[in-house]
Amino acid sequence: MIDMIDLKPIVHFDLFEDPKARILIIYTGGTLGMDYNERGELVPCGFDSVLRRAPAAKELHINLSVIAFSQPIDSAKIEIRHWQSIAHTIGDHYDDFDGFLILHGTDTMAYSASALSFMLQGLNKPVIFTGAQLPIASPRSDASENLVTSLEIASEKKDGKPIITEVCLFFNNELLRGNRSKKVESQSFDAFESENYPPLAKAGITINYNWPALKPFAKDILEIQDELNAHVAIIKLFPGLLPDTIELILKAPHIKGVVIETYGSGNVPHEPWFLELLDKAVQDNKLLLNVSQCNGGNVMHGKYEASSSLEKIGVLSGGDITSEAAITKMMYALGRFKKISTAKKCLITPIRGEMN
Ligand code: ASP
Repeated sequence: MIDMIDLKPIVHFDLFEDPKARILIIYTGGTLGMDYNERGELVPCGFDSVLRRAPAAKELHINLSVIAFSQPIDSAKIEIRHWQSIAHTIGDHYDDFDGFLILHGTDTMAYSASALSFMLQGLNKPVIFTGAQLPIASPRSDASENLVTSLEIASEKKDGKPIITEVCLFFNNELLRGNRSKKVESQSFDAFESENYPPLAKAGITINYNWPALKPFAKDILEIQDELNAHVAIIKLFPGLLPDTIELILKAPHIKGVVIETYGSGNVPHEPWFLELLDKAVQDNKLLLNVSQCNGGNVMHGKYEASSSLEKIGVLSGGDITSEAAITKMMYALGRFKKISTAKKCLITPIRGEMN
């Protein structure tokens, strides 16, 4: 049973009789739609003020519809039920729109875009996440540009078919694959990076698509996979990490899977106590996934002695996956597949272009 969050009724802005596209905007909150309160703190405001400050959004020959969270939130508050609500909102309105735009805070946008990429199986329309570093009310804000260009990309077709057929993230003139993206800057406009996969498009005077990098259109049928298992954790290694700390997480009965953020190309302290703890967790049927702390490059079990035992123990290699995609994919795999061997297979197989 899904605990759907409260959404405002859909509002249609049918501005054109013969629009080039119909786009559904799902407004969740974040800095983009924030305004200052009387104490000078940024707090979420309604979508009406957003649209008032981005008049160009109404000039794209697109008919817009908006569904807003009743309580727009800072994305630090995102939970699984928000992802489920977004996924079902897309599912419920899938046939009525050419594309979907999710306005979302930047802090957890890469997690949400990753989660939605796994939840929307068989997607063949654009789902684009965007937000802003400065509120739309601020004169130097990046909000309007991100919003307007995302709308344009979401509406674009070639030979009558959508150009984008996956979950993406648009920010600072770049369209990134959602489950390859990572927030890397909290101050500059260049907030996101996708080190292991090239941008899908760059927006300059024209929008230039990186055709070979795009997921091709396929005649798929959308299926919402909404069962995510939250009994997961991330352990980030650091020199001096105490055995008791790791043990506490690996032995916690409710924890079913752990993403281990390791050094470089997947290296771990090659100590008996550490390897024994991992071995015990695998014997207890827990999923362990090795992901690098580096933003670029990938895990290569056996390249160094410091990772050679992991394969034997049964720790899975995350290859070049991001931590954001790894933890959400683990939630998805554990939620979807009851058999641990199937969940393991899912984790090491690219399913939405999240790893090579
Ligand atoms: N704290 C904000 C959020 O993630 C930051 C942002 O939107 O950029 O909702």
